[in-house]
Amino acid sequence: MSDVLSDHPPTSESPAHQPSSPPPARPVPRALPQRFETDIEVPDIDLHMHSTASDGGMAPAELVALVARRGVSRMSLTDHDSMEGIFEAQQAAIAHGVTLLPGCELSVRWRNQTIHLVALMPEGAGDALSAGLRQQHDARERRSHEIAARMERLGLSDAMQRAREQATLSGSGDRPLSRPDFARALVEAGLARDLQDAFKRHLGSGQKGDVKAHWPEMEEAVGWIRADGGVAVMAHPMRYKLTRTKRGELLRDFISAGGEAAELVSGFQNIDRARDLARQLDELGLYASVGSDFHFPGGPLAPGSMSPPPRTRVPPVWCHPRLAPFFAAATATM
Ligand code: AMP
Ligand code: MN
Ligand code: MN
Ligand code: MN
Repeated sequence: MSDVLSDHPPTSESPAHQPSSPPPARPVPRALPQRFETDIEVPDIDLHMHSTASDGGMAPAELVALVARRGVSRMSLTDHDSMEGIFEAQQAAIAHGVTLLPGCELSVRWRNQTIHLVALMPEGAGDALSAGLRQQHDARERRSHEIAARMERLGLSDAMQRAREQATLSGSGDRPLSRPDFARALVEAGLARDLQDAFKRHLGSGQKGDVKAHWPEMEEAVGWIRADGGVAVMAHPMRYKLTRTKRGELLRDFISAGGEAAELVSGFQNIDRARDLARQLDELGLYASVGSDFHFPGGPLAPGSMSPPPRTRVPPVWCHPRLAPFFAAATATM
């Protein structure tokens, strides 16, 4: 186990929500982590990754094999609005001796912005999240037709079919489409220079193809996660275009809805900003998660290769009272 965040399980089951002044009721780990910043290349835990069940490039079993080769022993597969890859990943995880926590990444709305939540589900999806995922699947289907119509107005003929072809090329045509499929179709048709350009001009935040109308309110989606015994994690809080104050408002609303953790580290992240985020999580009494947000091999990111977290007394999410027993049981049977 890496000691980037303290790994001591909490001693009580206090809720995560108490702010630090007066002192937090959330259990504070007894020992502070001794190593941080630069000396850990591959932490052995990664709780945010994608497969071909959404917009990732590797089949779930291939991804798990790569995770194992890289020495990551605990992972969550968190495909966008889908847990279709979990069964295959679970079989591979057993074969490779990796502990796999079922999960997904939900697209939601907050003040009319798209926000992503990571759902960590030790008991898998129950009735509430399963119904939520069906709703997300339909929302994504409807949205893809709307994005296609908008892309056709920009000059991309047969947009739906072209995006479907790109989805097939990237690993799976048998899933609802996502914006990267349309981005690749724009590049292929010569309407954008590259993926970044396609997002910047047509599909990114505030552009024509950024259709978010169909996503549920954040509060509702947190409810699905909590109803099925999961832990709701705010995904990559530094990636939204929000000031620190607004980010605080987002996190407070998230906590009011039942959210309990946030990604302290997502992919490659500036250490000063991570320190600032750690202070904010501490003030709010949230647990900290870490994840690469890995999608494709061949790039700079790999499973477990995210920036190391800063030194902090914020407890890691794998010590959360509903997740610690899951990891302990998995380790005991290995
Ligand atoms: P969707 O879930 O359909 O809204 O698509 C969102 C996904 O698009 C994200 O999870 C990323 O994988 C990808 N994405 C978003 N912005 C960019 C960007 N600027 N460049 C490349 N990929 C992006
Ligand atoms: Mn993605
Ligand atoms: Mn995301
Ligand atoms: Mn992601």
